[in-house]
Amino acid sequence: ESISEEFKSFLDSGIYRLDGSKVVFVDPVRLLNDSYSRFGVSPSAYYSRSFQSTDRERVEEEDNAPSISKKKRKRKKRPRDLNEREKSAEKRHQEAKSLLLKAHRAFLEVAGLQAFLPKLVKCEEFTHDGETEEKNFIELGSHWQAPLYEIALCFPKSHEGEDSWLGNHVGRTVVPLFNNLISNETNDEVEAEFNNSQYILPGRSCFYMSDLRQIRNLIPAKSDQGFNLIVIDPPWENGSVRQKAVFPTLPNRYFLYLPVKELAHAEGALVALWMTNREKLRMFVEKDLFPAWGVSNVTLCYWLKVKPDGSLIGELDLFHHRPYEYLLLGYINMENINSECTPAVNLEDAHVIISIPGVHSRKPPLGKLLWDHIPGTKPVKCIELFARELVAGWSCWGNEPLHFQDSRYFMER
Ligand code: SAH
Repeated sequence: ESISEEFKSFLDSGIYRLDGSKVVFVDPVRLLNDSYSRFGVSPSAYYSRSFQSTDRERVEEEDNAPSISKKKRKRKKRPRDLNEREKSAEKRHQEAKSLLLKAHRAFLEVAGLQAFLPKLVKCEEFTHDGETEEKNFIELGSHWQAPLYEIALCFPKSHEGEDSWLGNHVGRTVVPLFNNLISNETNDEVEAEFNNSQYILPGRSCFYMSDLRQIRNLIPAKSDQGFNLIVIDPPWENGSVRQKAVFPTLPNRYFLYLPVKELAHAEGALVALWMTNREKLRMFVEKDLFPAWGVSNVTLCYWLKVKPDGSLIGELDLFHHRPYEYLLLGYINMENINSECTPAVNLEDAHVIISIPGVHSRKPPLGKLLWDHIPGTKPVKCIELFARELVAGWSCWGNEPLHFQDSRYFMER
């Protein structure tokens, strides 16, 4: 059977644009693989959540749920008058719902895609032996010994007489792991070793692993050296006791002091902010956070989460575990953006990104999707804040940006 051009292009790019709509289905594994040549992201490791027991799955679906007991939640369902915030939340939800249902229907109608989904998440080769435990960088970084921890970067051995182009990047380089800008300036992946674990660093990527208090070290010396794309996925508080086990969260007011404006390029920057669908949070972002960061021209996008069988991971109407999150896009230094290069995103166009989610809180990579909307002169500079993984050509910051670079998440090509 002939497969459509669009499907072929999806197998290649990881992006399936649904006909005549603002809806895309993405395969994060294919998108991530743009960063690698010698290695590949293991689909089974990425999509491991799809194979977890129903119990675990249920817990993960409650990511956004406040810590209220089952009983309380049931009690809440009894009809009663909604307060102002709840009314506004309900109104937004109804708007989102009709749009998302339409997007989901369109997704289900794509010939061939549904049948392909199980192959996308295939699980045979989930081979990691589990001998070494995953490192907890959050914990290590808070030890008093943290300044003493070192990581060894193993740059590819050059062939005889060829080492001039690699300069001194040949062999092993040992550098402090925390509070240090570590970069792989080669175009190829570099393997790194820390305490018996291996990490894969994509080409031209750099990272800074630290607590929020050190983030100002990333501010460029000159504003024309700033970033043109800033992706931020803050550790929002959500009241869920369970989430605290995965990573620490911070009260909203801390994010007001993120130096987003200082990180932005003078020629303009696109800011992409991930957000859960709590109304209180949305009000905070609109009224306080974006004004403090100098973000304007905001567009709302949705991330709709589906299972490998194509169905939504939860019911749209279940108040505390909705199968979608928000992605807000906006610009900084809008006035300096050269109008020719800014296909400014239009508010009327709601964009929906559909994907099968990975483990807790892991977001689909945005670089390729946002590419046409990034202002500035190419090559543009991109940074991710609160990152748990690296991207080729990007700068990444967080207290565990090496988390998903552990070799257990990769296979050799
Ligand atoms: N976008 C990521 C998920 C980010 S979750 C992904 O797709 O995988 C938020 C991250 O912020 C977590 O890694 C958490 O450990 C980190 N974080 C929490 N408190 C922090 C702090 N004080 N300083 C730096 N990072 C912090």
